[in-house]
Amino acid sequence: MRVVVLEEPGRFGIVSRDAPIESQVDVLVRVHRVGVCGTDLHAYAGRQPFFDYPRVLGHELAVEVLQASRESGLSPGNMCAVEPYLTCAKCSACLADRNNCCEQMQVLGVHVDGGMAPIMNIPANLLHQSSKLSLDQLALVETLGIGAHAVARADLHGDERVLVVGAGPIGLAVTQFAMLTGTEVHVLEISEARREFVSRFGADARDDIGGSKYDVVFDATGNQNAMQKSFGFLEQGAKLIFAGFIQGEITFDDTEFHRREVTLMSSRNSTNQFPRIIELIESGRVDTSPWITHRMTLAEVAEDFASLPQSAGLIKAMVTVEDSDVY
Ligand SMILES: [Zn+2]
Ligand SMILES: [Zn+2]
Repeated sequence: MRVVVLEEPGRFGIVSRDAPIESQVDVLVRVHRVGVCGTDLHAYAGRQPFFDYPRVLGHELAVEVLQASRESGLSPGNMCAVEPYLTCAKCSACLADRNNCCEQMQVLGVHVDGGMAPIMNIPANLLHQSSKLSLDQLALVETLGIGAHAVARADLHGDERVLVVGAGPIGLAVTQFAMLTGTEVHVLEISEARREFVSRFGADARDDIGGSKYDVVFDATGNQNAMQKSFGFLEQGAKLIFAGFIQGEITFDDTEFHRREVTLMSSRNSTNQFPRIIELIESGRVDTSPWITHRMTLAEVAEDFASLPQSAGLIKAMVTVEDSDVY
């Protein structure tokens, strides 16, 4: 099979490998789609923290079951979204049903090899089947999960004034799930193209919020300056959720933080969201149609990946793994 390996920052290699055989414990799957996300672009650029090369990228996957044990509850031909989080099941986070922040977290395509390989073994509990979703939609579930989890952290009731800062893929996912609660969502975004894009989902996108204050603010920029400015958008008793992250320090004025009795939270990966998201897409309540803005085949990744960060209007690039990649 054709496997695309990120050998080092800025360089992919295409290697031919034998496909793995079914393992005793896992489910053998054929990868059909691989979504490209910021993590992958950072790894390519050499800016992803704690990242080892060489690495097979790919954590936003749509797969088809090839072989599965009876106990897995899956059968050949089942189409699945993949929860790409390998967790220890023993740490305090895992025991508290918060495996999204497992101490030993290993994300497929980040800490261990991922889905830019046509055939792989994946634990059955990480596979979420749907007979209705398209392959593209299955591969979008993980990205949507990041937004769904951030919104779950905020525990919205539908009557809060909500601001999402940044309308990239994370901001878009946060906006979609925040809007499901029935609340009005404002999106602060400097790029006109991204404002126009997020408006298509019914969000109120602005490049300036004046002096407006909000009950819940989500940062989806991963930009230190923007994250620090977010403290200035908070109403009395507000919540601030950092969905994006930086490597470094965030500072804020404790007087204002205390005066408003702010709740500050981070949000990492997602947990227990996959079945719900699949249901929401199946029932048409979450619209995935505008998400995919760029496409390439697995064979084209080595050539085309470099130009992605500069591509106009990039939200999500989707890689198709073809039959010819399987051999
Ligand atoms: Zn991702
Ligand atoms: Zn754990």
